[in-house]
Amino acid sequence: MPMSKSNATSAEPHVARKRFGQNFLHDPGLIARIIDAIGPQPSDRLVEIGPGQAAITAPLIAAAGHVHAIEIDRDLAARLHERFTSAQLTIDQQDVLRVDFHGLSARLGGKLRIVGNLPYNISSPILFHLLDAADVIVDQHVMLQKEVVDRMVADCGSKIYGRLSVMLQARYRMVRCLLVPPGAFHPAPKVDSAVIRMVPLATDQVRVNDWPIFSAVVALAFSQRRKMLRNTLAGYADALDWQSLGISPTQRAEEVSVEKFIALANYVASLPSASEGGQRIEPGLA
Ligand code: SAM
Repeated sequence: MPMSKSNATSAEPHVARKRFGQNFLHDPGLIARIIDAIGPQPSDRLVEIGPGQAAITAPLIAAAGHVHAIEIDRDLAARLHERFTSAQLTIDQQDVLRVDFHGLSARLGGKLRIVGNLPYNISSPILFHLLDAADVIVDQHVMLQKEVVDRMVADCGSKIYGRLSVMLQARYRMVRCLLVPPGAFHPAPKVDSAVIRMVPLATDQVRVNDWPIFSAVVALAFSQRRKMLRNTLAGYADALDWQSLGISPTQRAEEVSVEKFIALANYVASLPSASEGGQRIEPGLA
């Protein structure tokens, strides 16, 4: 990533950078409600994605004592360095998509609580990156475009039910916490936002046997959502016992529940070709 031209003089106001999805929260009432929803505690290992100008960071530090923050913008990182002590804030100046959350959890000595008013331009990649680390995460409270939150929690059969809904519902319990209007930010985005709480399911509640295969099956099925499964999953159609799975090969992906997708992917994972690697669905497709 090219280095940005500096506007780091703390005497001057920071100019919001569109390419980093910078929309800063400024509504104190709303910030207080977000902090309430998070319920930070001194024993937490709080990790904030994109602290920006510390709208959420400062009250998190006040409640919990310390925050580990990941911020890509070096000017904002420099300002945060000036404003907080290292006992209050650790700043990791880098792209969150490159952060190894397993390594971070090991360094901090336990599971993480993730917080973030996410840059909307890369919110789905961030969600998928965090999904890979769900086993070292206690919970995550993230602000996203309301439209994305709606897709995350969408029910099977709805027009907005898709890959994001299936992948996340298979791994998290999700609850919408707050609706946030554009006026709560500066600059104001064009769309409504929402805060969602995501709690990874306990290990014994996770039914997926092989995540790369699950991810690849779901991606294939939704690659052409109007097509029947017997076409999108053509390579496996003959090997699948559709009847025992309770799925019809003429159904479309949007008609298949999360539970049935899990059963379908577990069935694919149990096929000899999956373990031999012969016809293994390429995880790279996911
Ligand atoms: N938390 C602040 C708030 O609520 O006012 C800022 C939120 S702003 C929507 C998103 C923040 O994420 C910005 O500070 C931006 O610089 C940072 N950011 C954008 N892309 C990032 C990335 N790939 N890795 C880490 N931080 C990123």
